[in-house]
Order: sequence, then C-alpha cells, then structure tokens
Amino acid sequence: MASKSLAGKPRKVVPKIMAVIHADGCTGCEACIEVCPVECIYKVPGEDFASVQGWCDIDLDRCIGCKHCAQVCPWDAIDMVPTQDVALHVAFKGGPPEYVERHWDDLVDVAHRNAEVLVTGKK
Ligand code: SF4
Ligand code: SF4
Repeated sequence: MASKSLAGKPRKVVPKIMAVIHADGCTGCEACIEVCPVECIYKVPGEDFASVQGWCDIDLDRCIGCKHCAQVCPWDAIDMVPTQDVALHVAFKGGPPEYVERHWDDLVDVAHRNAEVLVTGKK
C-alpha cells in the first residue's frame, strides 16, 4: 500500500529524473500504483482500445522521480529518464498511436514544461 504522507501534496521541485511507462510492455498489473508515494500513476481510463490490454500511465506534473515504480515493475516497462529527455520518451511510449495523439497536451507538453522549469528554475 502506498504511503499517504506525500499523496495529493503539490510537488515542490521538478525532479532530475522521471518515470516513463512504455505501454507496449505494461500488463496493467498495477504493482507500480501500489508503491508510488504520491499516487501519480493511473490506469489509462475509459477509452476503447480493444486491440490492446490495459496499461498504466503517469501524471508527470506530480512524479517525484523516486524510482519505486521502476524497481517493482515485473516487466521492466518503466524507465527512469532524465527530465530533459522525457518529452521524447513519452512521444514514443508505444500503445495505440491515437492515445498519444489524443493526449498530446497531457503527455508531451507537460514533459516540455517540466524540462524548462528544471533548466531555467522558472515556473
Ligand atoms: S508495474 Fe509495470 S507492468 Fe505493472 S502496471 Fe506498472 S508499468 Fe505496468
Ligand atoms: S518515480 Fe516515484 S513518484 Fe514517479 S511515478 Fe514512479 S513511484 Fe511515482
């Protein structure tokens, strides 16, 4: 069970590394959800991708780069990526192409913004 102490609290600094789940390798087992201390991992919700099994994704505005998820994933589906490189990784995260297209703002734009904050220190 995830610790509740950090859950739901706003992140104070942008971490130097963040987790990226590769959808093609994820079985949706939810082991990562159980250990994330900030509860920023979620099951990809409510969309009809009948050709693939369910998978999980990460709220990049809340990930603190703790690596716990990557350490427990039984399928090595999670990479810890330097924050400046996250946008590239999420753009090629696998899964149905229409998923990334539909969620471009949630995935790629957020990754770019985090990288900029890390480099410039400006929010
Ligand atoms: S632990 Fe790995 S396989 Fe399981 S839901 Fe998380 S990313 Fe997917
Ligand atoms: S690195 Fe830590 S905070 Fe980020 S998604 Fe994984 S468990 Fe959650």
